[in-house]
Amino acid sequence: MKITPLWIKIAIFLQNLNSLFLDTIFPINCIVCGVENYWLCEVCSKKIKLRDQQFCPLCEKIITPDGQACFACKKKSALSGILVAASYQDPIISKAVHLFKYRFIKELSKPLATLIVRAIQSYELPLPELIIPIPLHPRRLRWRGFNQSTLLAKDVAENLLPDSPLTICTTALVRNRYTLPQMSLRSHHDRNLNISNAFTVSDVSAIENKRILLVDDIATTGSTIFECARILKAAGAKEIYATVIARQEYKQKS
Ligand SMILES: [Zn+2]
Ligand SMILES: [Zn+2]
Repeated sequence: MKITPLWIKIAIFLQNLNSLFLDTIFPINCIVCGVENYWLCEVCSKKIKLRDQQFCPLCEKIITPDGQACFACKKKSALSGILVAASYQDPIISKAVHLFKYRFIKELSKPLATLIVRAIQSYELPLPELIIPIPLHPRRLRWRGFNQSTLLAKDVAENLLPDSPLTICTTALVRNRYTLPQMSLRSHHDRNLNISNAFTVSDVSAIENKRILLVDDIATTGSTIFECARILKAAGAKEIYATVIARQEYKQKS
């Protein structure tokens, strides 16, 4: 039997004490209806409207059935499409995503993943053989404490097929270069340059000939997702699709 070291027991005890303390001082309430103990309760989460139209993720002009790339764009991208679950214009979505991504509220992963699952089911997106969350650089992962895309991917996998969850792989695609946050960059060109060659495939056998679903929280220009797809396709993946909670409108700063 494996014995848990004393320092780990103390750390867990302090963590539990800390969350009990925080829950007492700052009770959690649903951001929509205010019910206690949930950041976004099940009732309110179910009422969130799915995005009613999907666009080609590259030109963002042509409406396509489930977010797949249009005929012209298909030829120049390794990514087959991005299914966008909801609208960032919905204030509940922008608030929930902000709390999840920038305030580190892990508990929002489940209701947000439920939205992605609803979108996959309603658009009848074919199920992938493998789910890959967009990786963080190890340094950023240490700083954040968790990868929000990995949490989402796990919740998506568990909810899509509760009896036999889909396989998630968090090791085959790695971010080997520390990049500036995409949000901090002014132009499309800078964002593409920043993310270029930031990823590598460390385990080709895990992704070879697989239909892969990339999971991320939000997409803006899509540069990160396109680059991951490019690297995966070059390493032998059969098809790469992506899904995100929402697509944030990209405003190029002057
Ligand atoms: Zn609620
Ligand atoms: Zn297009």
